[in-house]
Formats: sequence, C-alpha cells, structure tokens
Amino acid sequence: MPGVYISYPFCAQKCTYCNFASGVFPRDLEVRYRDALALEIRAHAWEWTPDTVYLGGGTPSNLAPEALRAMLDLVPGRPWAEATLEAAPGNITPEAANAWADAGIQRVSLGVQSFVEKELRRTGRTHTAQTVAREIAVLHAAGIRNINIDLIAGLSGQTEASWRDSLDWVERLAPEHVSVYMLEVDEDSRLGKEMLLGGVRYGALDTPSDDSTADFYEFAVERLAALGIARYEISNFARPGFESRHNLKYWTLQPYVGFGADAHSFDGRMRRQNPESIEDYLTGAGRSDDTAHLSDERFFIGLRLSAGIRPAPEEWRRFDAPIHRFLDAGLLETDDGILRLTNRGVLLSNEVFQEFLNL
Ligand code: SF4
Repeated sequence: MPGVYISYPFCAQKCTYCNFASGVFPRDLEVRYRDALALEIRAHAWEWTPDTVYLGGGTPSNLAPEALRAMLDLVPGRPWAEATLEAAPGNITPEAANAWADAGIQRVSLGVQSFVEKELRRTGRTHTAQTVAREIAVLHAAGIRNINIDLIAGLSGQTEASWRDSLDWVERLAPEHVSVYMLEVDEDSRLGKEMLLGGVRYGALDTPSDDSTADFYEFAVERLAALGIARYEISNFARPGFESRHNLKYWTLQPYVGFGADAHSFDGRMRRQNPESIEDYLTGAGRSDDTAHLSDERFFIGLRLSAGIRPAPEEWRRFDAPIHRFLDAGLLETDDGILRLTNRGVLLSNEVFQEFLNL
C-alpha cells in the first residue's frame, strides 16, 4: 500500500546544524504555503488509498490543530495503519495532543536530538529533558503511544559521559522507536560556517571528531539493542513491530506521493521532486521528474536495511566486482543469498553506496 508525505518546512527557530530549506519565515508566507499545499493535495488524482501518512518538516506540530486536521481531511484512507507527526518538544499541550489523535495521528516523532542542556542550547533548541518526559506523558494520555525519539551523535560539546546521559533518558522514557543520526556538519549551516571561520558562538571548536561520532553511534547501537530497540536501518531502531511502516516504503521501493516543498514522490517507475525552496514551490518553478533505476536503487537504498537485500542472479553478475571487493574488505557480508552491510560497512556506507551508484 502506498504512503503519503506532507512537507511543512516552517520552524520556530533555525537549528545551528540545519542545512534544510526549512526555517523561520514570515507569517504571510506560511499562510500562502498552507493554501498552496491544500491546492496540491486537492488536485491529486488518487489512484489508490494510502495506508501511511507522514507529516514532516520543518515542524508540522507548530501548525494550529484545526489547520492540521483540515490538511489530513484531504487525504483518503483514515484511519491509516500509521500516521506520523514530526514534533519539536516544547509546546505539546494536552489540547494539541488530543486534537492530533482525533485527526488520526497515532505516532509522534520527537526532534529531541539530545537530553543534555549544554548540547541543546548550542543547537538553538530550547527544550530540556524534563520537557520531553512531560510531553511524552501528555501524548500517552491522549492515546498516542507510538513515540520516536530523534538523537544526534556528534553534537558540539558531546562527550562519552553526556552521550550516556542521553541514552539513560531513552531507557527511562522507553520509546517504541529511536533514530540516531551521525552529525555531518554542512558548510551552509550556521555551525558549518562557524567551523570554517573559526567562531565560538555555536561551539564549533568543541564538535567531536568523526571517529568519536562513530564511536558514539556504535555505543548507541549496543545500548539500544540491550534495551530491546534493535537497529533495522542505518539510523533507525525499533522495538519489534514498531519499525516505521511509512519509512520502510522508501527503503523497499514501494510507492509514495509527496506534497509540499522539496517533497519526493515515487510511483514504482518515476521519481518526482517538488521545488526545494518555498518560493519556488509557490511559483511552481523547478519541479523535476526522473525515471527510477530500480536495480541500482535496490542496492544503495535496500542495503540501508539491516535485513539486507536478496540480489537477483543478474544483479550478482552485474555487481560482481564491487560486491567481492566489499566482501573482501569486510564491509559487506553474505548469508544464504542475502547481502548486507557489516557493522564496519554501516560506518562506511556512503563509500559502499557511491560505488554502486557509479556503475
Ligand atoms: S533541524 Fe528541524 S527543527 Fe531545526 S531548523 Fe532544521 S528542520 Fe527546523
């Protein structure tokens, strides 16, 4: 069953490490965007009924609950098997949580990033660990019991001890799902610019090395596994049965349709991308369509999954050279016709994917 992604690229603040087109924009732009988004969803010719919906951003939880409801009313298929809302901790009230549940949301993905105050302040986020704990209780009380916590390994000021603190909080709060991203500082983010220019405001000098970030990530993999939250994709971990049904569609090449700025769609054959910037989205400039190369994509997208992929005989032949090179280097392993990344391969996955992309 296909999925629906809705992009809401507005945030209360611009995080220092963020290089997305999302951010803080004038109020009137937000209103115009909402109208354009509603038009785009209304104009869509539904050939199927979606069973998953994902509202991402940006910070779609900042939408007024009635606006969020109105937007979801345009999507067929409620109650969906999975409907996720990305939320920034800090303003989740019982009223909002009840309205989200009433609109069909059963899963909330919280952009926590860290439970350590010093690290949070340097990202520009204003919540605390206590805020997150309180708001998870609010979500539970509203009947939303499928919670994801996003964490970032490699934040400025992060140490082994502070990373352990964040994972202790995960243990205490017992979410169903955790995402762990290894921070790659982009030159265009405020943190990236500070790194280039040698400033001190966002803690650029205090950013862990790539090796430390990889160690933090590996520590998280072990710690989460011990909590029963197993890795099923490079950055995603879940209790059994709580793997994100929507996101799994991306990695298993199932169809989905995306609405809004920078949203992607895939109908099983063609990929489509909406314009990245809000202004271009509003004027309709720069929409692109591409034929998908499914065999290549199965390799560099499917290999993200811990379950790996089962290449067809012609794929084993076609990718024989890189497969054997990575098997010899210990970055890939094979088992009964399944090919998957090793633990070391996960850390060097970009290199592996690049090789398959270049063929
Ligand atoms: S990291 Fe998320 S919340 Fe922060 S500015 Fe970027 S999109 Fe917004």
